[in-house]
Amino acid sequence: MVRFFFFRLMACYNQSMFSNVMIRHLIRQRDHMLELSRTLTSQLSLNEVLRRILRSATELLDGHAGLIALADDGSDTFTVRASYGIQPTVLKHFAPLLTDIPHSDPESFVIPELDRKMKLVAQAAGMGLHQVIALPMVIGSEMLGVVYIFLASGGQFSPDGVQLLQSFADQAAIAVQNARLFEQISTEKIRLDAILRHSADGIMILDTSLKIETFNLALARLTGWTVEEAIGKHHEEVITWASREPGMDLIRAVAGGWPLSEASVLYVEGDLRHVGGSTRSVGVTYAPLFSGDGQLRNIIANVRDITKFREAEEAKTTFISMISHELKTPVSVIKGYASTLNRDDVEWDSDTVERGLTVIDEETDKLAELIDNLLDVSRLQIGTFKLDYGPVSIDNLAKKIVEMMRTQTAIHTITVDFPEDFPIIQGDSRRLGQVLSNLLNNAIKYSPEGGTISVGGRVVENSVEVYVSDEGIGLTEEEQVLIFDRFYRVDNALSRKTQGAGLGLYIVRSIVESHGGRIWVESQPGVGTTFTFSLPLSQ
Ligand code: ADP
Repeated sequence: MVRFFFFRLMACYNQSMFSNVMIRHLIRQRDHMLELSRTLTSQLSLNEVLRRILRSATELLDGHAGLIALADDGSDTFTVRASYGIQPTVLKHFAPLLTDIPHSDPESFVIPELDRKMKLVAQAAGMGLHQVIALPMVIGSEMLGVVYIFLASGGQFSPDGVQLLQSFADQAAIAVQNARLFEQISTEKIRLDAILRHSADGIMILDTSLKIETFNLALARLTGWTVEEAIGKHHEEVITWASREPGMDLIRAVAGGWPLSEASVLYVEGDLRHVGGSTRSVGVTYAPLFSGDGQLRNIIANVRDITKFREAEEAKTTFISMISHELKTPVSVIKGYASTLNRDDVEWDSDTVERGLTVIDEETDKLAELIDNLLDVSRLQIGTFKLDYGPVSIDNLAKKIVEMMRTQTAIHTITVDFPEDFPIIQGDSRRLGQVLSNLLNNAIKYSPEGGTISVGGRVVENSVEVYVSDEGIGLTEEEQVLIFDRFYRVDNALSRKTQGAGLGLYIVRSIVESHGGRIWVESQPGVGTTFTFSLPLSQ
């Protein structure tokens, strides 16, 4: 009886011992599972997530050590990404376990000769490992990696443990997949941010209440608002128009139901006000961004600076009207004189005929000069402007041109001053003559009251400098910046009276620069102007 009682007591004791062990095991399992879900939702690096998964798996299976190896991108090799219970110094000995891992058919996953390899590894690593279990990490049919758990002598894997390990392997696969997706999204975001940031066009993203969420550097430059200032502001506060082309603007379009009623893009063009007071011509394209369920999420605005385009359009219009005028004037004069001299009913005396023919001759020269200038500009534009190099004696060239010019004016005194032995340079004599004629012509044209025009030169280090100076109407500082531009003419009473297409100085500068030289102007309104160009002594 006593013995029976003793055995019952022992049985009860064993049963309660067993359930206690069971309960403790289940609690441990629950704790590990909780930690696992915490790990998976945390923002840890992939390596740390894998390390924690491996630690939980090894401890739950009463393992001695563990490894996680991931498949390398674009090759059939595997690399250890997490280890547990293995000294880093002996990790290299585990390499044989990473060979011959089957990539396809995860359903029937078997690493050939795994046990034999493990024994060799254990020996090389000096670890008392006795048994290994390796399970694949799979997403769909893709093999992402392998989880290995090692047991020391005496241990045994239970079928329950194997099942548990598979769920750990599945979680690890999800973690790897998430990390990959996260990396892809991060890379994509970095790329998009860089495109947005450095785009030459202004870009901003608005929320549905038209508040600015994103604002790039190009737009900061166009508007004068810094990125930090603009973000959070209403679109209308930052995008203010000095003038706008007739048509829709964003506010009116939105009030009219855009883009919900009509999802096409909205285009607005006009002069955008800069914080500093200036304006830029821009074209803004607003495009709606809808979510998957058709809700409006954002409006993306692309702001393109079209100032240059507009200037080019204006230049084209100015060019056509100016050239038509410049061509028409001599042609009308020629036609007038020719018709008059050709009349049958009048006998012209020889003086009148000669004067008429002289005018026709001069006007024809002007026409030829304009056409030559236009041809030069076109050559410069398409890059076929060629120089015919040879030795040029600039001082003699200047003296010859001054002689010619003296015959064209009675109210100017033209002086020439070059030092003795002025050096001979290499250049295109005809083109350099064109430079001097143009500058002298302008000096006469833009000093209508007469005065002295001085032409001269000097040697400065490795170059020669030649100047043409007058006592004419002069130029303001703003005009001095613009006069070398194509088709630019100062708008004043004199320029309106004198003929010119605004091409002379543009061609002059192009010729000088083609010689490797430089031209500049010094001037004071009402006092006079000096143009100086320098040319290198050795080419
Ligand atoms: P154009 O004389 O045919 O108008 P240019 O290119 O030679 O064209 O000159 C451009 C403008 O620069 C002129 O319209 C004139 O207003 C100004 N300019 C040129 N030379 C002088 C000068 N010596 N003095 C004052 N203004 C000048």
